[in-house]
Amino acid sequence: MTPDEFRAHGHKLIDWIADYRESVAARPVRATTAPGEVRARLPSQPPAEPEPFDAILADLDTKLMPGLTHWQHPRFFGYFPANAALPSVLGDLLSTGLGVLGLNWQACPALTELEELACDWMRQMVGLSSAWSGVIHDTASTTTLLALLCARERVTNFSLVRGGLQAEPKPLVVYVSTQSHSSVEKAALLAGFGRDNVHVVAVDDAFAMRPDALEEAIRADVAANKLPCAVVGTTGTTASTAFDPLDALGAVAARHGLWLHVDAAMAGSAMILPECRPMWAGVERADSLVFNPHKWLGAVFDCSQFYVRDTEHLIRVMSTSPSYLRTAADGQATNYRDWGIALGRRFRALKLWTLIRAEGVSGLQARLRRDIANARWLAEQVAAAPGWKVVAPVPLQTVCVRHELPDVSGEALDAHTRAWAERVNASGAAYLTPAVLGGRWMVRVSVGNLTTERADVEALWRVMRAEGERP
Ligand SMILES: *Cc1c(COP(=O)(O)O)cnc(C)c1O
Repeated sequence: MTPDEFRAHGHKLIDWIADYRESVAARPVRATTAPGEVRARLPSQPPAEPEPFDAILADLDTKLMPGLTHWQHPRFFGYFPANAALPSVLGDLLSTGLGVLGLNWQACPALTELEELACDWMRQMVGLSSAWSGVIHDTASTTTLLALLCARERVTNFSLVRGGLQAEPKPLVVYVSTQSHSSVEKAALLAGFGRDNVHVVAVDDAFAMRPDALEEAIRADVAANKLPCAVVGTTGTTASTAFDPLDALGAVAARHGLWLHVDAAMAGSAMILPECRPMWAGVERADSLVFNPHKWLGAVFDCSQFYVRDTEHLIRVMSTSPSYLRTAADGQATNYRDWGIALGRRFRALKLWTLIRAEGVSGLQARLRRDIANARWLAEQVAAAPGWKVVAPVPLQTVCVRHELPDVSGEALDAHTRAWAERVNASGAAYLTPAVLGGRWMVRVSVGNLTTERADVEALWRVMRAEGERP
């Protein structure tokens, strides 16, 4: 494809995307295909000869579209909002079009320096002190793994340059809560701690980690000749947006020399609102923090920010320095390859930079406030309707609900919950995700897509009532 042909196809593709965004509300939210159906529509073998680009585009509409679940739909209330704001889409396209790689500063100085700038802008936007430095990675899963590797190496005084965990005299323990995201356990297993050494700490009535239970767990592990290493606190849990008390967890961590990692993947976005910052009071006590602008804030996936206080420590854990990567600028400039696992990095900062500039901090704040107000409105309707219940506090934009029937409890209630949620999803009118909270199924309504307005939440509530109360 020549640049001129690219121009023509590119204009068409941009038009296609704009049309898609304009019309997505009219589509069923959930994909309508059965497993294997999309694949069966496509040739099983690659084309031997070049195909016209128009033929490829045509397949989008006819073959792929039915297999899409529309995350940018105004009545997508599943999982979490993964907002791909259009300025950010353009920033991402720019990154792809430039095709540059940051192996080190010299490989693309602008890539590194814009990433530093975007991370520092975001640090200021969420009200973190200047003690923090950031980097952009792909996902919170990756980032939490990095945090636990840093914790492991701090507590063992760099076991990796000796016999690693295999030569440590005591097993190292990581503390999580019953509400921690599954990626935290995965990170602990991959970092070599072992499932036996992931200590799951109890939560309170609001599903937040209990600092007294953490203290007790640490004491029991020390008595059992184990070495407490790290605690992962969550700012906005996945099931119900619970906020672990970071101040109290930080005090316990400091007392016992633990690394405190904060998983703010979802609710970190809310911290651009000064009125929300009390929810993570104590965050300055943490050693590391992850926050995903690719969720509610609007940066195109993937954009997960990792902040640490001790960058030297992170770099010591992550750096290797083969001769072909050394340059004269080493020591004067940031080499982000030493801030994570991957050597090569995309120009991810562009999609954050374009988002923040095009929407402005005030624009982003206004959107998030709109979403919080819409979630509160829904929670009020649910609480006031007979048979309906809000089953967890609603600090931000996720509303956890259940519809209860007289004389129905336990597994029968779970079956009812899952059945009405499935009816809502099958209708195509809206999309929700059921989840288990406190041992029982409930339905999460995650409000906050870019184009979700009050009317969409009203429409959702009508469908929920129709399907939940159906005899
Ligand atoms: C979404 C989420 C994650 C996982 O994020 P990925 O970036 O998909 O790995 C982890 N923790 C919390 C609290 C989340 O909301």
